[in-house]
Amino acid sequence: MEILNVSNVNKRFGGLKALDEVNLSVEQGHVHAIIGPNGAGKSTLLNCFVGRLIPDSGSVTFLGKDLIGAKPHEINQIGVSRVFQTPEIFGDLTLLDNIMIPTLAKRDGAFSLNAWARVDGLGEIRDKALHMLEDVGLAEKKGMIADSLSRGDKRRLELAMCLVQDPKLLLLDEPTAGMSRADTNNTIDLLKRIGERGITKIVIEHDMHVVFSLASKISVLAQGTVIAEGKPEDIKGDPRVQEAYLGG
Ligand code: ADP
Ligand code: MG
Repeated sequence: MEILNVSNVNKRFGGLKALDEVNLSVEQGHVHAIIGPNGAGKSTLLNCFVGRLIPDSGSVTFLGKDLIGAKPHEINQIGVSRVFQTPEIFGDLTLLDNIMIPTLAKRDGAFSLNAWARVDGLGEIRDKALHMLEDVGLAEKKGMIADSLSRGDKRRLELAMCLVQDPKLLLLDEPTAGMSRADTNNTIDLLKRIGERGITKIVIEHDMHVVFSLASKISVLAQGTVIAEGKPEDIKGDPRVQEAYLGG
């Protein structure tokens, strides 16, 4: 079953055509990788899925619902969660607070941080957040200030902030960028475990080791256009893909 459908999406930045008639079909439960050289339009495309950018034309639907024109929090509320290329965390709050905030946001919709102490059922929210921290291996650091974490741990924290919202579709923009090989392998394991929960994932990734470990389908984007699509074993040997990467 198709969970996300992208049809003929176009996006211009002034004279630059960042997305040119992009089509994409993502199947429920799959890991769909989007690869392509720097500047290909990968992050721009994800931004069109979460309400950060509005395409100039074309359609994006999630489980049949139109995402274009929807606000980021509305898209989040219906089950689409995103991990950014640069971690977006609350740097001066503890890890536990960082997880409790999105847990609460998901339960209550928008809420005011000023009303934090008066929220009902905070104990339950805290328990859920603690479980999540355990799941990603950060439980021992729950009282630490998020900014003091290593880069790898920050990315893990951001992933946990998404996962705690029980998304149906998780968008990951270069989840292992800047990580050591050991951290990368831990992240692959974590993403595989998430896979067992049936969360559909779209992963933008440069590291081919990660792509081939996780993806069941790959779309190759170059200069805003999907130039190839298929199973990992088909994409590996595709001459168009090699040309796009090797400076064709
Ligand atoms: P990728 O994620 O594949 O590396 P991006 O989607 O970030 O590529 O960018 C695609 C192209 O659009 C690049 O040439 C980039 O410079 C340009 N671009 C991205 N965002 C903006 C923006 N907000 N304003 C102007 N140009 C942008
Ligand atoms: Mg990018």
